[in-house]
Amino acid sequence: MINFARERQDVADMCRTLADAGYFAGTGGNLGLRLTDKLMAVTPSATDYYLVRAEDVVILDIDTLAVVEGEKVPTVEKSLHAAMLKMHPQHKASLHTHQPVASAVALAHEVLPWPAGIDSAGLGPHIAVIPYRPSGTGMLAKTFRKNLRPDIHAYLMASHGVICSAPDLQAGLAVIRKIDAAAAAFLRERIQKRANLDKPLQASLLKTLNKIELMGA
Ligand SMILES: [Zn+2]
Repeated sequence: MINFARERQDVADMCRTLADAGYFAGTGGNLGLRLTDKLMAVTPSATDYYLVRAEDVVILDIDTLAVVEGEKVPTVEKSLHAAMLKMHPQHKASLHTHQPVASAVALAHEVLPWPAGIDSAGLGPHIAVIPYRPSGTGMLAKTFRKNLRPDIHAYLMASHGVICSAPDLQAGLAVIRKIDAAAAAFLRERIQKRANLDKPLQASLLKTLNKIELMGA
């Protein structure tokens, strides 16, 4: 019998949900779930999301990031989840994805407004941007901590992906979907505003965007 079996199973199940939605690509993307004041569960590093079992989900000390239970190597992005959960003590879940639409927008290094029509209550004034630093490095962890804000729960990581915090994993999934919808609205507006864009190309770009968006729905 493993400790926190239910919570670790929830993390494993959410991996599959996010992979099915196309929000986890290959082995890119990872999760953190607060278990107690001192402990969090994180996804294992470089594992096929469809094969993750509850016992593969690693339990870490949220302050030292030392492994408390689990055989697998924890995700290289564990320090981001620890920082996210510490900044938002009311939240249990931290979700980091490499979702296609928002990750494309993250190449623009621009703050994203929440568009009209998306219920962004409680998520903060906008989707903030964390400046680019290479994945899994101390530089990224440091820059990440510096740019977190207690009132903002959704972030684009420049040229990388998305991270958000939420009361639980299911609520986090809803935030991930909202970030993608906001990113799609941003891209759609940019494509439509490009007056010099050839019309058939414009139409085909918008069609492709709709298709990618439907994948995650
Ligand atoms: Zn990543």
